[in-house]
Amino acid sequence: MSGGLDALDLSGDWDHDRIMAEVEKMFAMGETSPRAARDPINQPMINNWTEAIGETDPRYASSADGGAGIAPPAMAQVWTMYGLDPTRPADDPLHGTMQIFDAAGFSSVLGTNCDQTYLRDVRVGEHVSITTKLESVVGPKVTGVGEGYFVSTLNTWWVGDGADREAVATMLFRVLKFKPAARKPAEAKIDRTKLVRPQMNRDTQYFWDGTAVGELRIQKCNACGELRHPPGPMCPSCHAHDRGYVVATGKGTVFSFLVHHAPYLPGKELPATLALIELEEGLRMIGEVQGGRETITVGSPVQVVFEKIDDSLTLAQWEVIA
Ligand code: ZN
Repeated sequence: MSGGLDALDLSGDWDHDRIMAEVEKMFAMGETSPRAARDPINQPMINNWTEAIGETDPRYASSADGGAGIAPPAMAQVWTMYGLDPTRPADDPLHGTMQIFDAAGFSSVLGTNCDQTYLRDVRVGEHVSITTKLESVVGPKVTGVGEGYFVSTLNTWWVGDGADREAVATMLFRVLKFKPAARKPAEAKIDRTKLVRPQMNRDTQYFWDGTAVGELRIQKCNACGELRHPPGPMCPSCHAHDRGYVVATGKGTVFSFLVHHAPYLPGKELPATLALIELEEGLRMIGEVQGGRETITVGSPVQVVFEKIDDSLTLAQWEVIA
């Protein structure tokens, strides 16, 4: 392989001609050298996969259970998946092509098409390898998500090597590498009344009655005194149904959080910070953090605030306090 991806120069300005010139080098790399699967085809992995997918075909059971000693064909990709190590072989044309489009500003990716062809069954104990080559690059095209290029690669899985190697499956994989459309400059004001409504029922009414009057209420078992959240009809500790509530201090700390960027949620301004709050009372509660989302971290002290959406809904939310 002459230079491979190491020879890629991604600096400077890009236009269509330069993109296609660099892509041409990826075509010139041809097919990658075979990369062996980490493990041979094995029954434990087949068992995990069939269980996850809900596949009950008896041919894929272990041979002790009367199986045929073959793997489901749709597992082709499983055997050669990259692990957690982000490094990629220097002769991988898909990786190189992605880098070219990233550098040229076509940074987003959308899977569009995946065609697998199965040539023969693979048997437990066989060791597959994979090769990849760039099949086509077509663009620029204007699409619903933005301007982009369709990049297709052809993967082939093999058993054996050299002149004896035998193709067992192929996959034509196509992605759209696109420039995300610019954000709308003046976002219309978010209509908070369009929020997805929380469930209100016999078990949770006390909570929403509380937020309406500025109280953060926690369900309490009237028999044994244990606090619980989320609310439910029966005490998980003593199984009593008699329930009441206490009013929490409304103070806690951030146990964990995430920042939600997409998809769009009705009535919500994005990004939204959603956190698991550990209350002073020792329970945890999920809520949205309004203030201080730039500085939030695990352990940040927070204080409940109430936002009246309309007459039927007042939300308990959280603010980071100094
Ligand atoms: Zn109880």
